[in-house]
Amino acid sequence: MTSLLADIAVNAPVRNLFSYRVPAALAEKLRVGARVQAPFGRRSIVGVAVRLYQGDGSELKELRDCLDEAPLLDDQLLRLLRWAADYYHHPFGQVIKNALPGGLMRSSGQTGIATEYLYRRINRDICPAGRRQQQILSWIEQQGGAAAGQIRAEFPSPTTVLKRLVELGCLEQSEGERLRDPFLLEPVPSDKQLTLNDAQQQALEQMIDALSARRFQSFLLHGVTGSGKTEVYLRAVADCLQQGRQALILVPEISLTPQLVSRFRARFEPLGEQIATLHSGLSGGERYDAWRAISRGQVNIVIGARSAIFAPLPQLGLIIVDEEHDGSYKQGEGFRYHARDLALVRGQQQPCAVVLGSATPSLASSYRCEQGSCTLLLLPERVHAGALPAVELVDLRTEALRGVLAESLITAITTALEQRQQVLLLLNRRGFAPFLLCTDCGTSFHCPNCEITLTYHQRRRRMICHYCDYQDQVPDICPACRGESITPQGAGTERLEEDLAGLFPAARIARMDRDTTRTKGSHQRIVNGMMAEEVDILVGTQMIAKGHDFPNVALVGVLGADSLLNLPDFRCAERSFALLTQVAGRAGRSLGGGKVFIQTYHPEHFSLTCAATHDVEGFYQQELPFRRELGYPPCGHLVNLIFSGNNGDQVNNSATQLARRLQAVAGDVEILGPSPCPLTRLRGKYRYQILLKSPSRPPLRRLLFAVDNAAAELPRQVAIHIDIDPLDM
Ligand code: ADP
Ligand code: ZN
Repeated sequence: MTSLLADIAVNAPVRNLFSYRVPAALAEKLRVGARVQAPFGRRSIVGVAVRLYQGDGSELKELRDCLDEAPLLDDQLLRLLRWAADYYHHPFGQVIKNALPGGLMRSSGQTGIATEYLYRRINRDICPAGRRQQQILSWIEQQGGAAAGQIRAEFPSPTTVLKRLVELGCLEQSEGERLRDPFLLEPVPSDKQLTLNDAQQQALEQMIDALSARRFQSFLLHGVTGSGKTEVYLRAVADCLQQGRQALILVPEISLTPQLVSRFRARFEPLGEQIATLHSGLSGGERYDAWRAISRGQVNIVIGARSAIFAPLPQLGLIIVDEEHDGSYKQGEGFRYHARDLALVRGQQQPCAVVLGSATPSLASSYRCEQGSCTLLLLPERVHAGALPAVELVDLRTEALRGVLAESLITAITTALEQRQQVLLLLNRRGFAPFLLCTDCGTSFHCPNCEITLTYHQRRRRMICHYCDYQDQVPDICPACRGESITPQGAGTERLEEDLAGLFPAARIARMDRDTTRTKGSHQRIVNGMMAEEVDILVGTQMIAKGHDFPNVALVGVLGADSLLNLPDFRCAERSFALLTQVAGRAGRSLGGGKVFIQTYHPEHFSLTCAATHDVEGFYQQELPFRRELGYPPCGHLVNLIFSGNNGDQVNNSATQLARRLQAVAGDVEILGPSPCPLTRLRGKYRYQILLKSPSRPPLRRLLFAVDNAAAELPRQVAIHIDIDPLDM
């Protein structure tokens, strides 16, 4: 007897779908794309119905419930997710889970987010006695209120303390109320009416052609910082909305780009358009709210980070990927997708226009343009103040350092400060010093979980692992020789800040890195300080190279450029070039004629010489032959297989055994390794990798099924992760 059957993708590490019989009571309600509750072994599990059909269900179990009135995922989105599951070789159900707002695929089936507790400071005259109580209370006050989940992320097991604070009457607890999106609290600037320059006009016209034809076309909008890319985005989005379609704008880290969000709001809110932002700062409930508003068609503009590529926009007409070269578009764990690459796929499926924008396009995107599959649009000049800054490579082989700064840079800072201009200094390493060393016996301090040294943080008086956040006290005496000569080695942003305070006692110095931007609003406070010219020197990690436009910065200094060049990764030249060019572009934005100093022992390296001359094309021409010769992307394709487990020998043996089995069926695919991962030990796990390399994708894909078969025979204690198109290896 035939009945209605459903194929379900479940949130579990399994590749296959599971079939169930749909009980008569649910047959009316259930749609493809809705969540269901299903019996699974002895448990109950949440899945998504991905296919409904008639068939013989006598052997099958029945679904328990349907959890959504309307499908969460429409056909378009399901198609994208299925493509992604297939391409990234990742279980479909887990791909779906990644795309949905957090919590929706939990086995309870409840969204579990409507009932989140929110806490707000009240009765400021009541002061609790306990230190932990005070800490949590003042943190909540600083945040202007917080949800239970956010508090738990900062303080382990806070429940009893919170309960006590509520009893004491200094915290108010409420339930289910939505926290306001921080972006919507930002003041909206007034919109500027601009006349596009010729380059902007030409770029826009090509985009509008594709938009009007409602066809897929991808564009690489290559424009130096300040060349007016954002203005072109705004115009293209306006055109897209006029057609009654929706726009999706991806940014690398939305918390670093509040200015972009404000500009979109300034342009479109007066027209009655609502803008939704999707980012990691939202609670599960807020994401779910945004998600529903988007899928109901109430919102036509979505701005978000990586995972917003899965936003449920039924009438999508335009996808913009800003700073397309940015590595944070690739998810580093679990479902390792690349949002820029998926943007191109989604654009093709839709079909719609896709605009990739950057001042330093990735080699991958430049290569696509060269191959003719992407249209290159150039904005060659800055809108204001024409000239790009002059870049000087400071040769540390011949020039002396005072502390961590070269004499010529110190002189330049002195001059800039005298002229009341702002200075930006990049040192891509937070903390005071990368490690502590006993200069008597040579002892240094390593993370017990990861194979790296602990970074010395002076202000917090701790040694901290930057990978797993392990922390330890700084010893006064060396545990090995009992000597008292433990000294910080090398420099991080904290030390640079201290050195500067010594050299320029009158200067107002601020620091921007992950340590100083932990709390809500702190990043914005630093940016505001720079804008209001209450800061003379801003020190920071690569964060300072991103997004913002500080008009009064005249001088940029880069320290530690060499450590960028010496990473064991074939992309390190590309990354250094992009970072240096981006940070150099921060100088002289409104004044023109800014200056940049890059301290280096390798002033002849082409990453540096090309960055010094803002020569993106020259860099591409020098880097590409090297990639071609070695078969690296974009001229070849890679898959990384990562093995991890608690027993190093067992992990290594498993990887070796699997590599041997793959060799037998490899064909054209080159099998490299196994070799220890760059971080051989991470969070207590030993890690080895096998790199698969091939000039074309099909043989690589075929080999993945051999990997699956072989992996099934590995010991259970060894986990294997497949990373397609890896960025970090
Ligand atoms: P990008 O995104 O390439 O860094 P922006 O779009 O932010 O550049 O433009 C830099 C500055 O120039 C902004 O303040 C913007 O308002 C202004 N601008 C952009 N296009 C024009 C134009 N055609 N005429 C005048 N000002 C412009
Ligand atoms: Zn660690």
